[in-house]
Amino acid sequence: MRSNNNLKAVIYCRVSTEEQTLGGSLGYQEKECKAFAQKRGLDVIKVFREEGESGRKGSRTQLDEMRKFVSIKQNNVSFVIALKIDRVMRNQLEFLALEVFLKKQKIALLYVMENNEDTSGGKLCRNFSGIVAQFESDVNSERTKAGNREAFLSGRYIKKLKGYSFRVNPFGKKQIYPNEDAKYIIKGFELMAKGIYSQREVLAQLKAEGFVSYPQAFNRILHNSVYCGLLPDTQGVNDGKPVIGIHEPLVSRELFDKVQEIIDGKRPTVTPRKRNNPAFPLRRFIRCPKCGKFMTSSFSKGKKRKYGYYHCSKCSSSPETRILKTTLEKIFLEYLNSLNIDNTSILNLQSTVIDVFREKTKDLDNQRKMLDKSIKGLEEEKSRLIKAVAVGSITAEDGGPEIQRIKAQISEKQILLADMADTPNIEECWAFVKYFLNNLTDIWEKADLDLKQKLQCLITPEGFYFDGKIIKHIKIPYFISIFCSKTRDFNKKGG
Ligand SMILES: [Zn+2]
Repeated sequence: MRSNNNLKAVIYCRVSTEEQTLGGSLGYQEKECKAFAQKRGLDVIKVFREEGESGRKGSRTQLDEMRKFVSIKQNNVSFVIALKIDRVMRNQLEFLALEVFLKKQKIALLYVMENNEDTSGGKLCRNFSGIVAQFESDVNSERTKAGNREAFLSGRYIKKLKGYSFRVNPFGKKQIYPNEDAKYIIKGFELMAKGIYSQREVLAQLKAEGFVSYPQAFNRILHNSVYCGLLPDTQGVNDGKPVIGIHEPLVSRELFDKVQEIIDGKRPTVTPRKRNNPAFPLRRFIRCPKCGKFMTSSFSKGKKRKYGYYHCSKCSSSPETRILKTTLEKIFLEYLNSLNIDNTSILNLQSTVIDVFREKTKDLDNQRKMLDKSIKGLEEEKSRLIKAVAVGSITAEDGGPEIQRIKAQISEKQILLADMADTPNIEECWAFVKYFLNNLTDIWEKADLDLKQKLQCLITPEGFYFDGKIIKHIKIPYFISIFCSKTRDFNKKGG
């Protein structure tokens, strides 16, 4: 006997294993569905909970149980309630089959989070959601080219990638997010960009820190622009142009490009591999007193310990071209110390630089405003389209790709805008320049090989001559002509 005349409903909940870890629990779904039923005065007589299955297979026990249960006349079920269409079905055909099945039983399928009206608009909206669920399913399994194409054009990278894991983004889409391997990949790019280590050396260091990879895979990582946020057009659907990804890039485009140039040999590395001995920062930088060739270096064994020497490989027979590492480095430090950094000329330069900087950043402000405006315009266009699809004035097939395209444009512009937000503080930069120039000796002493060599190259890219006693240069380096007091006569021509 009935306790009331309320219509009866069953609830169907499903959660994928992936979502369980994200807190999309069955309990939550059930609660939402029950609240939905209560508001509409429906009696929930049974809840079907699909536990732990991916939803990919057509033969899901709870779904079958539910079908069986609602088809029994005595149960008198009028509604099936689910949270969202993609919770019920991951496959358009399966969805249609269920809808047809329920329709025959005169049972309506209700979605808590979707438009339930049985109007043409409601139907369209449901159908659209079904297509979206289908689309996601295709993407997840990388089954169809169409799915991949859509994901690519909307900036979603959907293949497995070292340093990232899949998670569901706030829009319910599968997306890559940095994982615990990300830090190794960032470090790998940074080390490569120094231009002084080989891929093998960098990989060895990362492995020592716990990274798991092998040379070919690491080489592919270093070439993969997805790490700097650009999805390559591997399918030829965007005129070969990359699309800006919506995921978080691990490295900047600048860093990525730099590493590409180094790997491809376009950019001369600071030092070729043979120079990469941190024990000899002046190697290939100071020229032989006799022939003017760059000096090289080596260790030679003494009775008690090893001694480092800079020497000329050509003039090995001349003992004066062989000098103890500690001696030459001391001479170089003395040289650095002798550079009369002229703070007046730094101050003079400062006002000019700051003026130019301000002028340039004014442009940036205008660009920022323009970007802001065009993002707002695109957002409006997007909501107009979504509404048009919802009310049925545009078909989902026509509207869907267009919406994705606009979304991609918005994220592209947002990324540009975010880049522009990082305008450096010019006063801080100058404070650092002053500190740097006034502490060259200290900085060189404490620096690692990379910074040492950069500092040396900054002062004179051509290297120094060494006459056996002091360091000389042929033409006055720019650095010295800009930052050092002109009253001091460094080295006259010749060397
Ligand atoms: Zn020589």
